[in-house]
Amino acid sequence: LAAEWERFEKQTPESGAHHSRALGSLPLGVPSSFQHWDPYPVAITSAQGAWLTDVDGRRVLDLSMGFGAMLAGHLNPTVIAAVSKALETGTLFVTPSPSATDAAERFQRRFGLDQLRFANSGTEATMYALRTARAFTNRKAIIKIEGGYHGGYDALQVSVKPSVAEAGPEEAPTPVTPFEVEAGTVHVVPYNDLDRLGQLFAEHGSEVACVFMEPVLENIGIVVPDAGYLAAVRAMCDANGALLVFDEVKTGLTAGPQGASQRLGVKPDLVALAKSIGGGLPLAAFGGTAEVMACITDQRMPHFGTYNGNPLVMAAAVAVDEIATDEALAAAETLNVGALEQMNAIIAANQLPAHTVGFGVKGAVTWAPTPVRNYRDYKRTDFGVAELSWLWGVNRGVLTPPGLDEQWLVSLAHTADDMGILVEEFRELAAALR
Ligand code: PLP
Repeated sequence: LAAEWERFEKQTPESGAHHSRALGSLPLGVPSSFQHWDPYPVAITSAQGAWLTDVDGRRVLDLSMGFGAMLAGHLNPTVIAAVSKALETGTLFVTPSPSATDAAERFQRRFGLDQLRFANSGTEATMYALRTARAFTNRKAIIKIEGGYHGGYDALQVSVKPSVAEAGPEEAPTPVTPFEVEAGTVHVVPYNDLDRLGQLFAEHGSEVACVFMEPVLENIGIVVPDAGYLAAVRAMCDANGALLVFDEVKTGLTAGPQGASQRLGVKPDLVALAKSIGGGLPLAAFGGTAEVMACITDQRMPHFGTYNGNPLVMAAAVAVDEIATDEALAAAETLNVGALEQMNAIIAANQLPAHTVGFGVKGAVTWAPTPVRNYRDYKRTDFGVAELSWLWGVNRGVLTPPGLDEQWLVSLAHTADDMGILVEEFRELAAALR
């Protein structure tokens, strides 16, 4: 690992120099703490399709793709044409414009929502989805999944990545919050654990506004639901008068043309969307059933935002809806499945303590000894090898997301050759690890 870090610094002197400068104005030298890594992150100057160019002039294959936001690919011609056209007619009106209604109608159809509202980031969408659930039920308590991340909103910044030492017993995890803001109103359950969820509902059912969760847990690699799990969560919510809220910020279009909920056949009351729906521009949305969204109409949950539905981003949204066809997404998924199969064969041939997981156009290699069904399983990851595996790629021009718990995205711009680069780089790593 030390040798790989040395190699990294040798290849990226301009990124290092840029970082020293950025430290003067930006905490950690980055605009978002997720962009930070030690000793410094690679600084990028431009992007095209599936490729980035860094300040050292290196071409880097992008498999992070904006944490999954760049599903359409960098500088997708349809997105760029639509946004360029919008630039000629104005970027912010703060009165309704047909472009927002066009985009809303498209997402309404695509995701099977009665109504939706736009926002500007995943954090905003999840925050408003949660506030809507609380307003609708007139209840305050929520149940979230241990290890789940939903953005920077206080009520959801609970048990996001706790150390196992502070997280409490496995069967009854303790909600761990960096601030005591919402203490006592957030309950935490392990993913894929219906017993604990049932117990919580038995103890607090009449106080619970919602179960707030990603349908596929994508902030600890990729963790898919056990057969029947989501349907059972749905049934428990119904039995207790609580709403089911799916955070589809990461899954969304990356899980399939209509998102994870339709792919997995479980309909939530509310859904939060962001990242992949915006073509790389800051777009988010939350929506759901007419009954629940009526909270906005009757002012139980007013929803505001200066930039909501601005014509620039709406143009990108319509373009993404046009290009994210069933065929285009299926083609990208085929590339993903092919790469995952080849990597599985490499893992088996080299008897590596790893396994792959994929969902839609996303994939991950997990260096945990057993299949990961929840956060505690994930914590058994060999994070040293995970770091080496990620850095190995960076040093060979393949950028997967900097967090060790993220996953790659096969965008509409990736080719079979691009995926071959990922596989070959992994083959070399496997040989080195053997
Ligand atoms: N929800 C999930 C599942 C996420 O992964 C993220 C961001 O990574 C968010 C919400 C917050 O989105 P944003 O970073 O756009 O605020």
